[in-house]
Amino acid sequence: MTERQGLPPSDGLPRGSQQIPAQQVPAQQVPAQQVEEAVAMLGSLVRRDWPIGPLTTYRVGGPAALFVEVADHVQLAAVGRAVLATSLPAVVLGRGSNLLVADGGFPGLVVTLGAAFAGIEIQEHRVRAGGAVSLPVLARRTAAAGLAGFEWAVGVPGLVGGAVHMNAGGHGSDMSRCLSRAGVVSLADPDEPGETVMETGALGYSYRHSNLIPSQVVTWVEMDLDAGNRKRSEGAIADIVRWRREHQPGGQNAGSVFTNPPGDSSGRVIQAAGLKGHRIGSASISTKHANFIQADPHGRADDVRALIEEVRHLVSQRLGIELVPEVRMLGFSEPGTEAASSAGSRPGRAS
Ligand SMILES: Cc1cc2nc3c(=O)[nH]c(=O)nc-3n(C[C@H](O)[C@H](O)[C@H](O)COP(=O)(O)OP(=O)(O)OC[C@H]3O[C@@H](n4cnc5c(N)ncnc54)[C@H](O)[C@@H]3O)c2cc1C
Repeated sequence: MTERQGLPPSDGLPRGSQQIPAQQVPAQQVPAQQVEEAVAMLGSLVRRDWPIGPLTTYRVGGPAALFVEVADHVQLAAVGRAVLATSLPAVVLGRGSNLLVADGGFPGLVVTLGAAFAGIEIQEHRVRAGGAVSLPVLARRTAAAGLAGFEWAVGVPGLVGGAVHMNAGGHGSDMSRCLSRAGVVSLADPDEPGETVMETGALGYSYRHSNLIPSQVVTWVEMDLDAGNRKRSEGAIADIVRWRREHQPGGQNAGSVFTNPPGDSSGRVIQAAGLKGHRIGSASISTKHANFIQADPHGRADDVRALIEEVRHLVSQRLGIELVPEVRMLGFSEPGTEAASSAGSRPGRAS
């Protein structure tokens, strides 16, 4: 069987005593000269002060100093040269479904993948998909092709590249179990200016964690799936969609805010701490699923951030459990550290 499809591109003050330890990209001072040099190199490719908060599922937060949607590998290479020449901080943005952008925005360069990265090819058991392919679309396409093992991804509203970076998962599986290899372009690494192929073992996978850094761009993936049964896979997809509708809220959120503590679920823990419905300004804990934080229309990233810190503080104080954020932060002032949970993926648990 051979298929090809080119798809359009998808579209205050912290109250806790500790800083959020998840991987972050801080708002550092970026000299205007660096920005101007990058603009001079990228010309009409680049947009200034581009609102990226609205490109995330929280739909809060400010602009990126520079924003580029790369149409193809040639443009991505040009962005890499500009990042290397100027040392501008650079971050790749997928669907923004796991990202909180600071109200003040991000003073560096944000790059996102365009149409050339949104193709799907299926040959026998091998699936090759671009970094900008929607995960739910890929789940449905692999099921329709009679392949089994990627049905879980229908419930994760991100793009392939973001899912590889996050080791997204649910319903008993994750990217680390499905992926064979990925194409990666390192924007800020002078030793690796082109695309390198990373086998799954090189990605340093653990529960909701890879060793990719924000300036490493996943441009494609290959998965070798098992032969399955189309009807059974489509039935599983319908069950997952129904389960999600019943158990998870819609609106402006980024899914689960915290990773699950070993042997437990963050939703249960936050509820047990009496925090369901708790609110700070324009951000509140969902009454449907306590591990979801909802942003109000026209809300503030600072409120979401403050609520995340307060939940961590109160859960620690009341239950002695230290929650670890899964959501990535962009443009906040604390220096970033990489400290995702080292717990392994646990079968049978949705995010
Ligand atoms: C309603 C809802 C339900 C969710 N359910 C789940 C779930 O069940 N399981 C789960 O794991 N997650 C879940 N999520 C979170 C989110 O969908 C996943 O983390 C997803 O993988 C993020 O993909 P993205 O394209 O949106 O990445 P973004 O949010 O845009 O970025 C996330 C990180 O990935 C990096 N990144 C983005 N694109 C690339 C790329 N091409 N190459 C390299 N790095 C990249 C970014 O720099 C950033 O560090 C849910 C979110 C929502 C809103």
